[in-house]
Amino acid sequence: MNKINFNAGPSILPREVIEATAAACLDFNGSGLSLMEISHRAKDFQPVVDEAVALFKELLQIPDGYSVLFLGGGASLQFCMVPFNFLEKKAAYLNTGVWAKKAIKEAKNFGEVVEVASSAESTYSYIPKGFDIPTDAEYLHITTNNTIYGTEIRKELDSPIPLIADMSSDIFSRPVDVSKYDCIYGGAQKNLSMAGVTFVIVRNDALGRVTRTIPTMLDYRTHVDGGSMFNTPPVVPIYCALQNLRWIKSMGGLEAMDKRANERAEMLYAEIDRNKLFRGTVSAEDRSVMNICFVMNDEYKDLEKDFLDYAVGHGMVGIKGHRSVGGFRASCYNAMSVEGVKALIDCMQEYERNH
Ligand SMILES: *Cc1c(COP(=O)(O)O)cnc(C)c1O
Repeated sequence: MNKINFNAGPSILPREVIEATAAACLDFNGSGLSLMEISHRAKDFQPVVDEAVALFKELLQIPDGYSVLFLGGGASLQFCMVPFNFLEKKAAYLNTGVWAKKAIKEAKNFGEVVEVASSAESTYSYIPKGFDIPTDAEYLHITTNNTIYGTEIRKELDSPIPLIADMSSDIFSRPVDVSKYDCIYGGAQKNLSMAGVTFVIVRNDALGRVTRTIPTMLDYRTHVDGGSMFNTPPVVPIYCALQNLRWIKSMGGLEAMDKRANERAEMLYAEIDRNKLFRGTVSAEDRSVMNICFVMNDEYKDLEKDFLDYAVGHGMVGIKGHRSVGGFRASCYNAMSVEGVKALIDCMQEYERNH
């Protein structure tokens, strides 16, 4: 049976991206050696990093004065590296979920943290609005897409101070005005590559402003100066990212990704709203187009496990909701086709007819 991969992360990648990466693992550039057994400083590998950085800049239209880094440690290490490098006295954080909370916890080790707003009281079912942003804070940290709860800030937030964003699960799904940000980061394993590499986009002139000593590996300047080659970077995930960036470009870039994402999400939310068995879990205006969360309506609650089995039996993979929300979550990253979403909708309609 054809499997349709709705995993939240690590997650779906285009078939040709996986095939190209697998081929390079067997024989890199006709060298007779695997990508796994060559030096990251080999003359054949440098062009991989260079092209990946160039495609980042091209696809996201990153202005001059920014660097693109490929690091280890996941988005979780960035929760610490961000305040290490940017928080001198005070930073503002928007609390929109588990990942934001983890970022806040780390920042508190470095200075004063103002939580500008939180939707914790309603299981993060909406994005707070109309909050005050302290203008004496060094940055406002946001999580643009809340992978677990299925809410998203898809329109650039208005902020009087520089933004820093965790874009782990919506990077490359839409155009972004990078000039509003001092830093954008994320784990690659949601919408960019396989697990193992973290991307960081950083504004060069925002670095070097804090007075504390920063350990070499945690100092962004080390990696800016070293071109992500200060130490051995995760070469296979970077190669995979390059293949995916090429794929995104060939598909029409970020405008096209945005259009696809909206098309998929509109279809699926329309079905969730129409189908008598289901309902969405977050406020309509904050619905994520990447992670679509829903539950069974109260009167059908006891069918939840049965529907899950039914969907799995029809080839749906990874639609069980996160344990903190329950129900279902269909993650629809760039590689998800409209047909894949249609198959899930068919499944929901068939199941409704049977009940
Ligand atoms: C998955 C995820 C993380 C954690 O990423 P790691 O690379 O596993 O550390 C952080 N933030 C968001 C928004 C995520 O979706």
